[in-house]
Amino acid sequence: MDDYIIENVKSLNKTAIFEILQYKDEKQQNLFQLARNIRNNSKFKNNVELRSVIELSNICSQKCNYCYIAKDKKSLYRLDKDVILNRLINLINIGRRTFLLQSGEYHNQEFIEDIAYCCKKSMEYCPEIRLILCLGNLSYDQYKLLYDSGASRYILKFETSNYNHHKFCRPSDTIENRLNHIKTLIDIGYKVGTGNIVGLPKQTFDNLYEDLELINSLDLAMVSSTRFVSNPLSVFGKYKNGDINLSLNFLSILRILKPDSLIPSTTSLAMNNDNGQLNGLMAGCNTITIHDGTPKEFQKNYAIYSQDRFSPGELYCRNIIEQCGMNAVKYLI
Ligand code: SF4
Repeated sequence: MDDYIIENVKSLNKTAIFEILQYKDEKQQNLFQLARNIRNNSKFKNNVELRSVIELSNICSQKCNYCYIAKDKKSLYRLDKDVILNRLINLINIGRRTFLLQSGEYHNQEFIEDIAYCCKKSMEYCPEIRLILCLGNLSYDQYKLLYDSGASRYILKFETSNYNHHKFCRPSDTIENRLNHIKTLIDIGYKVGTGNIVGLPKQTFDNLYEDLELINSLDLAMVSSTRFVSNPLSVFGKYKNGDINLSLNFLSILRILKPDSLIPSTTSLAMNNDNGQLNGLMAGCNTITIHDGTPKEFQKNYAIYSQDRFSPGELYCRNIIEQCGMNAVKYLI
């Protein structure tokens, strides 16, 4: 059974992958166990990277149909550079070493320079930290400025790789453009992360297979797959949430395909599913994000998926890591 799965995932056998994606019950538990074994024998072993996220701004020039960020003009915010640096220093002082600086796609040069300033100052304060950016498509010069300021990783998800499906979900961008940005980031020297959303409206098994082919073709340090969560206020608000089992099976396939990658267990798994993130770790993931960096008053304004978003704290994250028999570590790469 294990050999069958490994062989067919590694060779991207389409028929077998369709079958594995639909595993349930005992077969699904075997798949998760296999993914866990592969993760625990990879170079990162059974360690989980703990990150803190700071959501810098919800201003965004894209118009993704699954997202409600920046649609309500009254709720727009942008953190001041002193606030960002202060949050970083405070988190460093309580022991955190990996930071995800996330924002809507906001090309404003002053904003990017503020982020570069905070990267530089926080690196000077604690050279051991790891800075991960997730800021959307920027210009080459902006990517380079941020890289030279100390950010070493960048997450730019392609979300869905099929040309028409991408247009349907992200009408303000194209998959070619997104891919060009991903390749630029790799060329600059960033450790890059990308991935998809599973369960998007009108997504087919063929689309998911194309996503795996694309992930397999890129030189990535981090891969991710989030679950579609229907935000009632978004254009896709009438569609139902993505199937949790399909998401978990996709994550296990990713682990088998990319044993030495960082794969996050995201809060999208936890929507209407209390054990969602724990199950993500059980399916082969190895990073968890603590939502303790964004000032409380702005957290509700960063609702990509839902206004009732789940914001896990440190205790919750450490608890599920322990329940999975894993170790929380400050960083993995
Ligand atoms: S998903 Fe991200 S890029 Fe798309 S509209 Fe929302 S914040 Fe912007």
